[in-house]
Amino acid sequence: MPNAEVSRLLSVPTGTVGYWKHMDRAKHGDLPGRKRSTCPTCYGDKLDEPAYSYLLGLYLGDGHIIRPKQHRTYNLAISCGDAWPGLMDAAEEAMRRVLPNNTPCRVRRIGCHDVKVYSQHLPCLFPQHGPGKKHERLIALAPWQQTIVDAHPWGLLRGLIHSDGCRIVNWATRTTNGVTKRHEYPRYFFTNTSVDILRIFTDTLDAVGVEWKATKRTVSGVNVSVARKASVALMDLHIGPKH
Ligand SMILES: [Zn+2]
Repeated sequence: MPNAEVSRLLSVPTGTVGYWKHMDRAKHGDLPGRKRSTCPTCYGDKLDEPAYSYLLGLYLGDGHIIRPKQHRTYNLAISCGDAWPGLMDAAEEAMRRVLPNNTPCRVRRIGCHDVKVYSQHLPCLFPQHGPGKKHERLIALAPWQQTIVDAHPWGLLRGLIHSDGCRIVNWATRTTNGVTKRHEYPRYFFTNTSVDILRIFTDTLDAVGVEWKATKRTVSGVNVSVARKASVALMDLHIGPKH
């Protein structure tokens, strides 16, 4: 119905009708010239599943979704140490692919950058969002998320290792027939305080056939280590050292 007709029917100025419509579009992020955020839940938009699986791993490991009081939009922030510029690029790329209409940005902090993206639909994409710390509440994957992780398990594992994990190389020397050789033993570690996130990590390792051990309880949580040669080789093939 044209604005003029609405204004006649409701006895309000035409400009008021225009203003109402503008405010309504703004509320839904549908203002012309600004593409609305994509959302598989609200609009049935197609989701880049490999990128999503990786971003989910980053989010579960070290990501935060917040809506600051003065903002109406949520933001997802992934903290990336300045020593790993490749990880910053990878996080940004995953955000671009998951939310193609929202532009990620980097916020400088001491020793690290937060890679950030803003969208109203972050809670739809990450239903694990909630008040409080992740290790103090139940973290369970929604069935549609589990389906994506089942199809793209290495994305999730890469994201978790890139955020809360590492690949370290231990070495030892061994002397055989008078010849001393240096042997390197690479292994992967993952540390998290949430038992739910640890279980998501180890369930996914089981699914791809990587053997693991929960090594010790520390103040900062439980360490899961991957040390068997074949398992490390598999991890190297799909994840590799941080860069
Ligand atoms: Zn949505």
